[in-house]
Amino acid sequence: MYLSCNMTIASLYKDYYVRWCQQQNIIPVKQTTYRKIFCTEYNFGFKLPKSDTCKICDESKIKLDIAKSNNDDKEEQRLTTFLNSHKIRSKAMQDLLKLETERSENTTNVYVISFELQQAMPIPKLTTGPAFYCRKVYLYNLEVHDYTAEQGHMFLWTENQANRGSDDVACVLFKFLKDKKDVGHLVVFTVNCPGQSKNWLLMAFSLQLIKETCFKTITHHFLVTGHTHLSSDRDFALIEKRHRKYAPEVYSPEGWHKIINDANNKNPLKVTVMQQEDFFGFELLLANVQKRDFSGVYTFHFKTKNTKSFFVERSEYYKKG
Ligand SMILES: [Zn+2]
Repeated sequence: MYLSCNMTIASLYKDYYVRWCQQQNIIPVKQTTYRKIFCTEYNFGFKLPKSDTCKICDESKIKLDIAKSNNDDKEEQRLTTFLNSHKIRSKAMQDLLKLETERSENTTNVYVISFELQQAMPIPKLTTGPAFYCRKVYLYNLEVHDYTAEQGHMFLWTENQANRGSDDVACVLFKFLKDKKDVGHLVVFTVNCPGQSKNWLLMAFSLQLIKETCFKTITHHFLVTGHTHLSSDRDFALIEKRHRKYAPEVYSPEGWHKIINDANNKNPLKVTVMQQEDFFGFELLLANVQKRDFSGVYTFHFKTKNTKSFFVERSEYYKKG
């Protein structure tokens, strides 16, 4: 059982116990005794405050509170229905991820991955005050999480090598997937982020993968924003914890590589350092999917904004090579 994060044993004693004793005309025990009984005879914890909460949920809850205080029943009902359907949709996507992972564990023909960028890591990262204001070089980390083998693969590069746009993400995915063998179906889960994963380039890249690799189909699902809970979030938290606790000062890219290497003792993360020749221009692929007429209007009408999933399949008439 958990108590609200804005309570402490001291506040429980002062605001609830002492007041209750006064009402009952009882002499309260000392706070040390109260604390001892609370800690030894009850199993209550204090809930940690939530961080990184969902924007849609938060906004709807505030609107719902306002509607309730204004006695606006119609608005209250509309918001409740909206919030419920949002929660059902996010749970359905999480269930699908579980289901696909189970399917991939039971057959060799399906491969389930997710990919996500970690927050950029500064080099050097020093604790000394003035360093905070100095310009730093940033290290990027894209994790490709293999759900089938439950393994995190970290791909690292610095900002002087490449950026972290959709074509750079495609280069990492290509390095990871190009040598896969004997797998027919690739299933990808990512955050619903236009810059990183939900864009024309990644769709064009999926078509290219179908041409060049063993995959016959690729399905890409976008998890509901604010409810993604990908394994990479847990891995990034482990890296952050390792850095805070054991290596608060980092002087070089190798310093970060070591922290990432040591972050997960039970199931070590695999680190790959990207080389300059691993980055090449995938943006040329855009010409395969974005067709414009003479006036510059797209003739291939397809809106990415509301897309929940997309699926590409190799035609039975397509001959490799
Ligand atoms: Zn939400």
